[in-house]
Amino acid sequence: MIATPPYWLDGARPIAPELRGTHEADIVVVGAGVCGASAAWALAEAGVRTAWVEGRGVSQGASGRNAGFVLQGTAERYSRAVSLMGRERARAVHQASRENHRAMAEVREALRIDCGYQRRGSLQLAGSEQEEGELLESAAMLREDGFSAEVRSGAALDAVYREAGFRVGVHIADDGELDPARFVRGVAHAAMEQGVALFERSPVVAIEAPAPGEAVVRTAHGEVRAQLALVCTNAYAGELIPWYADKVDPVRGQMLATAAAPPLFGCPVYADHGFDYWRQDEHGRVVLGGWRNLDVEGEKGTAEVLHEGIQARMEAFLQRFPGMRGVPVTHRWSGTMGFSRDGLPIVGAVPGLPGALGAVGFTGHGFGFAWVCGRALVELAMDGQSEIADRFSVRRFVG
Ligand SMILES: Cc1cc2nc3c(=O)[nH]c(=O)nc-3n(C[C@H](O)[C@H](O)[C@H](O)COP(=O)(O)OP(=O)(O)OC[C@H]3O[C@@H](n4cnc5c(N)ncnc54)[C@H](O)[C@@H]3O)c2cc1C
Repeated sequence: MIATPPYWLDGARPIAPELRGTHEADIVVVGAGVCGASAAWALAEAGVRTAWVEGRGVSQGASGRNAGFVLQGTAERYSRAVSLMGRERARAVHQASRENHRAMAEVREALRIDCGYQRRGSLQLAGSEQEEGELLESAAMLREDGFSAEVRSGAALDAVYREAGFRVGVHIADDGELDPARFVRGVAHAAMEQGVALFERSPVVAIEAPAPGEAVVRTAHGEVRAQLALVCTNAYAGELIPWYADKVDPVRGQMLATAAAPPLFGCPVYADHGFDYWRQDEHGRVVLGGWRNLDVEGEKGTAEVLHEGIQARMEAFLQRFPGMRGVPVTHRWSGTMGFSRDGLPIVGAVPGLPGALGAVGFTGHGFGFAWVCGRALVELAMDGQSEIADRFSVRRFVG
């Protein structure tokens, strides 16, 4: 059981110093994953004096440990999302994730971040007759609500999937993929160039609000004094701020990457109700993750350990594809997702901590939501309002 670094962070080096002594800023961001990067970049663009404090290194949390899918919607199939939150809300949430993708693609383009971004859509595969029914129902509802969802079966489903035993898939146009660490690190470099003071290897031990309009972020060797703190620590939110502890659960996900394989998978794919997912990146490597449902209880917590049973099942699954036989696994790692109690991000004030706003609880789909949520914190801070913050308001957990 040894944790190993993710493929995406091979050779990555620190890009910023540790926080030492007292530093002053107008706003301090805590956490340097995709959410913190979005907030830091929005502040940099607005010319706000910003400090940004990360406990490890930029994108060393879930944002550099995931599969790099940029999907629309929540972790639930659309039909299930509709039954959980109602049609109108499900549609609006889905729309928010599309806006998230649009905004990420725009910043990637503007900052010229080389992160293997592609927009080839995604494919949901059904592993059973029951799941086929769910997929078809979801696809019909998506189309009724104005989104694209193309059913593929028979010859319309690529042979590579049919040979592996799948019969029905639904292709979602517009979904994307990227190297998540290169994206987040690219934004971090740009933010630093705009004057954001980033500190790495500086775990925050406390956030205090000594007086209205004051926030103090403390680490073992330093502190940032600001007017406001933005909390972007997702799965780890409850460790720092007890209010989040019973609202965001840390859940582990296992991943592996192979050596370059022949071209097999034309877009990001997910199966078994989204539990299993894989894609082939621009170098031909297959990145595969999931199978958490084999040990739901065992995969709770923030320790980035390997689960040997799940890793073995993931590797065995690849053998269902003849083109993957003999292709070695080169990397294995795990990462920690933050599951909110209702599957949606929690954005806005941090109850009990007047000097802070937070955006956490991305429930396995942070690259579908965290960019607009990080930006929403800055909208709240500067304009006092944000449509995204209203949509994912903390109010549903208060009172
Ligand atoms: C295996 C796996 C696969 C996934 N696949 C996908 C996918 O394909 N597509 C998708 O959309 N989502 C995926 N996700 C989820 C996605 O990675 C997350 O939702 C997203 O990265 C969350 O971003 P974040 O910035 O909120 O959190 P994080 O990236 O976790 O960033 C939080 C940061 O806060 C820092 N931090 C925590 N506590 C402190 C502290 N006290 N002081 C200072 N810093 C602190 C951490 O070190 C970390 O860097 C996956 C996750 C995992 C684990």
